[in-house]
Amino acid sequence: MISPPGTIGIIGGGQLGMMAIREAQRMGYRSIVWDPDPTCPAGRLADLTITAPWDDFRAAEQLASGADVVTFEFEHISPDTVAWLEERKQVYPGSPILKVSQHRRVEKSELRQRGFPVVDFEVAGSRQELAASFRRLGLPVVVKTATAGYDGKGQTVLKSESESEAFLAALGSTVPEYVVERFLDLACEISVLVVREADGTVISFPVAENEHRENILATTVVPARVPPEISDEAVRMSREIIESFDMIGVLCVEMFVTREGTVIVNELAPRPHNSGHYSLDACDISQFEALVRAICGVPFHVPQLLAPCAMVNLLGRNLDSLVLETLMEIPGVKLHLYGKRRREAKRKMGHVTILGSTQEDVLVMLPKIYDLIGDTGRQVSTPQW
Ligand code: ADP
Ligand code: MG
Repeated sequence: MISPPGTIGIIGGGQLGMMAIREAQRMGYRSIVWDPDPTCPAGRLADLTITAPWDDFRAAEQLASGADVVTFEFEHISPDTVAWLEERKQVYPGSPILKVSQHRRVEKSELRQRGFPVVDFEVAGSRQELAASFRRLGLPVVVKTATAGYDGKGQTVLKSESESEAFLAALGSTVPEYVVERFLDLACEISVLVVREADGTVISFPVAENEHRENILATTVVPARVPPEISDEAVRMSREIIESFDMIGVLCVEMFVTREGTVIVNELAPRPHNSGHYSLDACDISQFEALVRAICGVPFHVPQLLAPCAMVNLLGRNLDSLVLETLMEIPGVKLHLYGKRRREAKRKMGHVTILGSTQEDVLVMLPKIYDLIGDTGRQVSTPQW
């Protein structure tokens, strides 16, 4: 076990790193963060911030020499850098799962090969292959770049012949590798955070129900409003996935629930996840504390949900209209702002958690909060069976 005041090294200084450091600090740990941005959120809290580009090996050296254990909150780092660090220090999770989660084709193929249900998909790297995939899968499809996508970036939904033709016509001379997926009619989306310790112990967090708007997570409701068979299936599958990849740390398994009630794995994130932010205020162990415990080998117990809750993301555009005083008057609301200097319409700037004594209490609060963040008239989503 790495005991406090051991030092945790974190690759990436975004809000995930910041919230992990806050939990680590509370437990007496020290932290070193590596991020190219000198104003990164985690830099406000870390004991030491290494400001250097991702390809700067001196930064990796500095991280390796200062930290007792290393983790990452940013997934677009080179797995070679992580592998290099692994030769010097314990890195959790390691480079194998990072390689898988960085590449949609590898991720979906690996999952399928291991027997986990994924959406019908094809890989295409040219106009001809794309057109053939559209024909075979049938419209609507969603086209995703194989690498570097997040929050819906690099994704296009094609619903009609004219849309697919326009997509092909707009492609440049070099076509990147794409994953083409059948676009599913969903009842809802859910996610499960699972955590695995070095001794193989696996624990899971309550199932979260996620509403995306423009492919960006907008609201999470916990517990998810799905029948027990579905949440049991989601938890069972998530535990099997973290074991199958022999991963240590926190894994978020994003899943689709179809209208027929089938659970399909969408994506893996081998780190704390936006859909787990609720756990900071609504559980006795947060996903960030779970990460610290897992990578430091601190004993665990199953996290308990202390109250029904919802999490609403605050994007840049939401802050434009937010009247903070009015928001803070709502009982049960907890505000989290990440202190990012640059505000962009779709950038994640913070979130609020709403706690209630019943799920109804929480759900009636949501439209009030939507109003306050400029989404006037926005309805509370419900699973569509
Ligand atoms: P990202 O890496 O941007 O999170 P995802 O593959 O998770 O990419 O897609 C983002 C969101 O887009 C999903 O959460 C879902 O709402 C929607 N989406 C993606 N793929 C599909 C699909 N095949 N069918 C239906 N909706 C989808
Ligand atoms: Mg996703």
